[in-house]
Amino acid sequence: MVFDNVEDRIKVIKGDITKIETDAIVNAANNSLLGGGGVDGAIHRAGGKEILEECIKIREKQGGCRTGEAVITTAGKLKAKYVIHTVGPVWKGGENNEKELLRKCYYNSLKLAVENNVKRIAFPNISTGVYRFPKDLAAEIAINEVVNFLQKDTSITEVIFVCFDDENYKIYLDYI
Ligand code: ADP
Repeated sequence: MVFDNVEDRIKVIKGDITKIETDAIVNAANNSLLGGGGVDGAIHRAGGKEILEECIKIREKQGGCRTGEAVITTAGKLKAKYVIHTVGPVWKGGENNEKELLRKCYYNSLKLAVENNVKRIAFPNISTGVYRFPKDLAAEIAINEVVNFLQKDTSITEVIFVCFDDENYKIYLDYI
């Protein structure tokens, strides 16, 4: 089978995504693309002002980033080549399209990665911080979508789920 190596292309680690040496890291951004707290703040702090400058240019062109969509910038001083900024949904109880929007974050980030010849990509646990998405459900959606994508795409060689907190790390290890 051509696609029997999907699991081999997925890794789970515990750590800080700004330290990962890969082609692209994904940022859990907000609609403004102007930076924020959590992983967004950490990426902008570590990557330097080049990232924000490109985000501002994107804002001028298209007015920020809609929830579920993704945009790509340089990674500035980071080891990665690109940052893919995607905006996860705020959890409002589950009846506001949150699950589909979170799925789209993973899909659109991977699609943008392929379009930019990215082979290796690292994701944080989008929406599970300040946006309060239940961690278990978020992990299930993230893993399902990545597996689906990799079953159809052979150009991505490595997807790393970078868990920052113990709870997410444990959940991901149970799934993978
Ligand atoms: P959101 O607004 O999408 O919830 P947050 O940044 O608040 O975004 O949280 C998303 C996830 O990112 C959380 O699980 C949090 O533990 C994690 N996180 C925070 N800092 C880092 C970091 N430096 N590297 C990787 N993950 C991080």
